[in-house]
Parts: sequence; C-alpha cells; structure tokens
Amino acid sequence: VDTREAGKTDELALSVSYGDICRCVKKEMTKQNDKLLERVAERLAECILLQFPQINEVEIEVKKPWAPVLMHMDYASVKIKRSWHKVYIGVGSNLGEREEYMKLAKERVSGLPKTRNFKSAAIIETEPYGYTKQGKFLNTAYYIETLYTPEEFLDKLHQIENEANRKREIHWGPRTLDLDILLYDNLITEDEELTLPHPEMTKRLFVLEPLCMLYPRGIHPLERRRYADILEDLKGKEQ
Ligand code: ADP
Ligand code: MG
Repeated sequence: VDTREAGKTDELALSVSYGDICRCVKKEMTKQNDKLLERVAERLAECILLQFPQINEVEIEVKKPWAPVLMHMDYASVKIKRSWHKVYIGVGSNLGEREEYMKLAKERVSGLPKTRNFKSAAIIETEPYGYTKQGKFLNTAYYIETLYTPEEFLDKLHQIENEANRKREIHWGPRTLDLDILLYDNLITEDEELTLPHPEMTKRLFVLEPLCMLYPRGIHPLERRRYADILEDLKGKEQ
C-alpha cells in the first residue's frame, strides 16, 4: 500500500485497516483444509489482493510449527510475494463478423476473473500486414491488471480466441480474433510460448496507434524509447 497520504493526513480510509486484513485472513484460513503451506499462502495472497483495492503487492509467510520431520525444527514456512500486474493487449479481427468478434473480445477480456481496471482504446480499421491478400482489420488495444502469470494469461487469451472460432492456418493470415500480449509489466522474456515485449509491436502501426491511446508516455523496455516517439518514427517511414 502506498502509505504516504495516510501518513500525512491520519485518514484510515487512505490506507488499509489491519483489523480488516486479520478478519479476511481468519475467514480464509477457517474456510477449508489444505495439505500444503503453498496452497494456504496462495489463497491468502489472492483473497487479500482481490478484497483490498489499495493493496498492490503482498508478501505472505505461512508458518507451520513443529513440522513432523523427527528432528528439531521450530517451524517450516512458505513465503510468497504476489501482486497486481499491468498488461497491455493487442486485439485484431479481419474475418467474418469483425464487430461481433471485437465485442466478444471486450466482454470476455474485461470479464476475466482475477483482473481489474480494464480499459479499451478506440477501434481503428487498418490495411492487412504480412500476408496482404486478405480483408481489412479492425484493431484496438486493452489495458488490464491481473493476478495471472503471463503464461496463465496467454492461456486465457487463447481460450477466448478459440471461442471466436480462431483457426491457426496461415501465419499472419486472416483471423476471426487475434489477442496478443504486448506488455506484461516491464517483463522481458523469450521462450517458445511467449515473447515479451511482443516482438512485432514496434513495427506495426495498427498496434502502436491503439497502444498510444492508452499509454503514450510508456517506454519500451528494450528500446528505451516512448511508444509515442516510436509511432511518430514509424509513421514518417511509411509515408
Ligand atoms: P501473430 O499474433 O504473430 O499473428 P499467432 O496469434 O498465431 O500469430 O501467435 C502464434 C503464437 O505466438 C502463439 O501460439 C503464442 O504462443 C506465441 N506468442 C509468443 N509471444 C506472444 C505474445 N507476446 N502474445 C501472444 N502470443 C505470443
Ligand atoms: Mg497472436
């Protein structure tokens, strides 16, 4: 929690009541039995983050006294840190009922559990990229905060794409719905399933334009330049 304002004003409403946290923890702890400390920690982190919007990050340590290991041990414990993550998503559709797919995407993404503060950029119509013998695209971008990991979140996006009957046929070819993770915090990663920031985002006007509506002053973690500046350059090149 950012305690600065509460510290200056003595207003509890600007911070979080530890009494409320204790009641939340007690309720969660007495709700069910779990075998693993990992599970208890995960549940506590999640219920605190979902219940108290001022809280951005929690560190939870669950201690088990006298763990049965036939050795002297004061306690065994599991400590985890969990937080809200800021995600930007690129959205595109150029096949079939494009408006309907865009509507479905907005409904499904904004309705995902373990998320908050969804925002959408305006929808723009753009010429196809890569494989050009295909219809025009509708594109937009979303901002959302989530407790999911990048892999879990990508999985959710794939489920929504599947619901829109997405078939992966031609690379960069026509699609009913394409949902890409552009940014996940400022995470830089490269593995088979997930590359972040999205490797194509700085080359594509139809990604940068809606992204800039939501996050013009954002800075690309690898290029160390503002999205608005990258967009301006790219517009210059395309003319
Ligand atoms: P594209 O979006 O490049 O047109 P696809 O939507 O068919 O192509 O994506 C192909 C694969 O790209 C996905 O199955 C996914 O595992 C991988 N991928 C890698 N990085 C990302 C990312 N940041 N967002 C979405 N998909 C990604
Ligand atoms: Mg994609």
